[in-house]
Amino acid sequence: MQRCAFSLLLSLLLAGAVHLPARAQQSSDSPGIEYAIAIHGGAGGDPDAWSAEYRQQRIAGLGRALDVGLGLLKSGQAAVDVVEAVVATLEDDPTFNAGRGAVLNAQGQHELDASIMDGSDLQCGAVAAIHTTKNPIRLARRVMTDTPHVLLVGAGADAFARSIGLEQADASYFQTPRRKSEWERWRRQGQSRQGRLGHPAATGLVEGYFGTVGCVVRDRHGNLAAATSTGGLPGKKWGRVGDSPIIGAGNYADNATCAVSGTGIGEEFIRHQTAGDIAARMRYGQVALPVAAAAAIAQLPANGGGVIAVDRRGTIVVEFNTVGMSHAMADSTGQRAIRLTRSEP
Ligand code: ASP
Repeated sequence: MQRCAFSLLLSLLLAGAVHLPARAQQSSDSPGIEYAIAIHGGAGGDPDAWSAEYRQQRIAGLGRALDVGLGLLKSGQAAVDVVEAVVATLEDDPTFNAGRGAVLNAQGQHELDASIMDGSDLQCGAVAAIHTTKNPIRLARRVMTDTPHVLLVGAGADAFARSIGLEQADASYFQTPRRKSEWERWRRQGQSRQGRLGHPAATGLVEGYFGTVGCVVRDRHGNLAAATSTGGLPGKKWGRVGDSPIIGAGNYADNATCAVSGTGIGEEFIRHQTAGDIAARMRYGQVALPVAAAAAIAQLPANGGGVIAVDRRGTIVVEFNTVGMSHAMADSTGQRAIRLTRSEP
């Protein structure tokens, strides 16, 4: 597995798989990295099979979102504000499977899931199977800040969004021509073909491009946050909820360990509690983030998916067992990369 670690120390740790005491990993006074950000635009599919134009759209979309995040981080914004703004930017980009341009379910409808978590106090909010709220991640944030709850679903969640004045949109905004034609093709083909992820949970799903989005951040103050948003698996059953809005499965943040955003077969992330598993390996096993992330992804079946993660030192990890996973990362030392696979743009 590829691991992208910006800190020399962590690279050495990775090479030797040396385990540090948790305290040492979690030091926030590392002089090296003031802030760090990683973004993903979904696992799955084979980027080599994509058109040059589509590859470029993805790279440009990730770059724009990265710049939004870097601008906020430079000005000292809190990690939780940064992940919300970055994911909202990606939700507005029809290239990705979140917000506008979300994939369609078996009924040809969009159903959106999202969650956000603040690692400084473990506050979190999530929404699932929503239809009318333009930016699901902004609603997840308001569930976190304006309600005593963690997860709101369906019509009740959208009604809450309207009651607090969050922007609404109709189906014509979310359902792009590309997603409609993918869905039509799937229906014509008898809904029986194996999805590109090649996994039983994906059997019969639309063989489209995946593009869940997520962002993890370590801010100037040493705080961590994670946000994830998706239209879920294409061709999913009406009412199906994946891992993205499930705290500890597809999204997690705790200053004591790491912030994680996942993408892939949500059922597997829920079974394996993947995001929480990475944090737990760091907390209880006292291993460094690269080791913990590799071990957690190794639990998933082949082509299960991947994660982006960051720890309090600003070490970024990208770990996946799919052919491609669109991702981008940058930090305060000037490091910057945007990739669709392990090494290739
Ligand atoms: N994890 C998402 C879900 O299962 C899908 C994805 O990341 O592509 O809903």
